[in-house]
Amino acid sequence: YQGLAGRSTKEVLQLYAAHGQQMKFQRSSVVTQLHGAIKKRLKQDLKSLHSFALELSKDFQRQSKTCLYQVLAAVQGLQLQNEAMQMFQIKAFDLEQSLQEVTERYEKEKQKRKALHNSLIELRGNIRVHCRIRPLLPFDDAAGHSQDRQRNFSEKVAYAADDETVLVKCSRPGHASVNKTFQFERVYNDLESQDAVFADVAPLLTSLLDGYNVCIMAYGQTGSGKTYTMLGPQLEGNLAFAIEEESELGIIPRAAQEVFRLISEKPPGSYWVEVSVVEVYNNEIFDLLAKDTCGKVFGVKRDVVTTREGKSDVPLLTHETVENVSEFLHLVNKGLQLRVTHPTLVHAHSSRSHLVVTLTITTVVFGDNFGMLWEDEQTSQRLNKEASFTFPQKMRDNKSTSSSRASSPVQLEATEKMKQVKTRLQLVDLAGSECVGLSGVTGAALRETSFINRSLSALADVLGAIAEQRAHVPYRNSKLTHLLQDSVGGDAKLLVMLCISPGQKYLTESMQSLGFGTRARQVQRGQVKKKNFPVPSKGK
Ligand code: ADP
Ligand code: MG
Repeated sequence: YQGLAGRSTKEVLQLYAAHGQQMKFQRSSVVTQLHGAIKKRLKQDLKSLHSFALELSKDFQRQSKTCLYQVLAAVQGLQLQNEAMQMFQIKAFDLEQSLQEVTERYEKEKQKRKALHNSLIELRGNIRVHCRIRPLLPFDDAAGHSQDRQRNFSEKVAYAADDETVLVKCSRPGHASVNKTFQFERVYNDLESQDAVFADVAPLLTSLLDGYNVCIMAYGQTGSGKTYTMLGPQLEGNLAFAIEEESELGIIPRAAQEVFRLISEKPPGSYWVEVSVVEVYNNEIFDLLAKDTCGKVFGVKRDVVTTREGKSDVPLLTHETVENVSEFLHLVNKGLQLRVTHPTLVHAHSSRSHLVVTLTITTVVFGDNFGMLWEDEQTSQRLNKEASFTFPQKMRDNKSTSSSRASSPVQLEATEKMKQVKTRLQLVDLAGSECVGLSGVTGAALRETSFINRSLSALADVLGAIAEQRAHVPYRNSKLTHLLQDSVGGDAKLLVMLCISPGQKYLTESMQSLGFGTRARQVQRGQVKKKNFPVPSKGK
């Protein structure tokens, strides 16, 4: 067994050695095999890496080339845009310059426009007379005097022959009828609308904002259409007028509308409008917008005075600031309604008093801009003298400033040289001009009639004095003319709207009105003559 074990051990050792040798042999051959494979693989990888890198660099080259092209194109575009920009800048500069030139020219033209407008208005006469013949109306049929029964009272005797001539057929019983003609600046026939009438009034409102006082008055007997022409149709049983009927509105609401339209074209804050409504009854002035301490409206008697500057003024008269037509119409209607309920005015018909609606336009001018507003020298100088340097009360009063178009008081205090100029538009519905046969009229009616007659003849006297260029114009002979002093005469523009009833029944009254208008027109003729035919100086 020992021998056996020795042999086995030897065998094992041999086998072990053989195994070690075999392992050694095996290991070296795998390594070489692996080495070879790796080498081969590495070579392949290197090759593909090389080709990939080559491809990559080629691709990079291509891409950078296209980018370069794009950058070049963008730079070129920028250059073009720069050039275009420069062109535009030059163009803009040119345009700016021409705009400035145009603005300057526009300013000059505006001055010329104002001057021309004023000469046109002056050529037409600072006092002009238009005549409106109303249509025949159902109430014209009412019977007249009993002794004239056989004659047709509703027969039409007053016509508009053309737009400057009135033709009146005058007939007396037993005589052949005679045609009389009267010439006026404008004659409206019975078909002409409120629109047509206002179209001739509107240019005067341009003068108003150019710095001139303007007065438009309706003259004629009761029932001839004064109130219709000035205000519009009256509401049933009410002295207020119907505001809804836009096309029927008369001169007063339309004028206010036009004034606000003209103001809206001016720089904001430079103008504001106040309204006052007064009635002249029995040579006394009643403020129809005055309020008692409870804020209730009632007519208060006021007086008209002449200020140190020679202007007419009604101390304590209520002036309400209005910003639009509806506020204005509201106030006018309020005043009109008061005419009926006024305790001291026991007149049945509104036609027994004169109604004066005044729009006061205040223009605020700062410092040296004064001349810019009224470029025509004369007006500028005239208004410059009149302008006051005080702050308007409205602007001192913080509460009410909010409702005015003007700038805040703080801003105004900051600017030192502020001037305000007031121009006035007076719109007058005169009392009926009929001379009621004084026999049989007593008491209040007689008093009324004689006051009306006196005030209307005072008006005729004033126009006569202006016509003859007398040094003294008797404005103070009646409250009516005193109140209207600043908008009648001087360089103020007056338009008398004669209202005529066409019927035979009213022939006498119509002839009286036409006579009044003709006399007033001579004022205008006198001025035109003076303008067109200047008297040569003595030396020549
Ligand atoms: P006045 O104020 O002169 O007394 P009104 O204006 O009150 O007269 O007019 C009298 C009547 O005639 C009113 O009913 C009015 O509506 C009417 N009327 C006046 N003028 C015209 C006109 N042009 N077209 C239609 N109706 C008119
Ligand atoms: Mg009337």
